[in-house]
Amino acid sequence: MSTPEVHLHDKTFVLYLSEEEIASAVSSIAERMNKDFAGRTPLIVVVLNGAFVFGAEIFKQLTFDCEVAFIRVSSYRGTASTGEVKEEMPLGADVRDRDVIVIEDIVDSGLTMDNLRLRMAEAGARSVSLCTLLFKPDAFQGVFELKYVGIEIPDRFVVGHGLDYDGLGRNLPAIYQLKV
Ligand code: 5GP
Repeated sequence: MSTPEVHLHDKTFVLYLSEEEIASAVSSIAERMNKDFAGRTPLIVVVLNGAFVFGAEIFKQLTFDCEVAFIRVSSYRGTASTGEVKEEMPLGADVRDRDVIVIEDIVDSGLTMDNLRLRMAEAGARSVSLCTLLFKPDAFQGVFELKYVGIEIPDRFVVGHGLDYDGLGRNLPAIYQLKV
């Protein structure tokens, strides 16, 4: 049982998605992937830091042969409306001619996923499938397909299950929403 409220630094967060709801979303994504990738050997690209929890949960439920690699990126937004995605840790794998599945924790504006998708395509991936545990449709500005979406959520800041607020909260098993 998760606590109804948590305090991280100066903020309070309220329980929003239970461990059970998350587990059910993870299993349905894994089931779909198992159908879609049967007989193929994709490379799973987990986006650090946030997706390490979700990525591991998905990974354990995959029944086809697959490899895993990690990339760390961070996004910066200035005063202008355009953003920049910076690679903090490069992908230690060759994606050329591979079917790639990119695993993110959350898609907000879509800037990070768009950048990763283009990066994989430019590096010669045969196909790029995008997967995210959480998706904020009201904030999304992308024009690309998210093939696997766990749970759609409102445009509110969330923590837990890998997601942090200023470094804290990643270890919470459930997902919490910023209290207003
Ligand atoms: P996007 O590029 O889609 O706007 O944002 C994606 C990244 O922003 C995510 O990988 C995550 O690091 C961060 N992010 C977006 N929304 C949230 C949120 O509600 N909570 C947390 N902890 N991070 C978020």
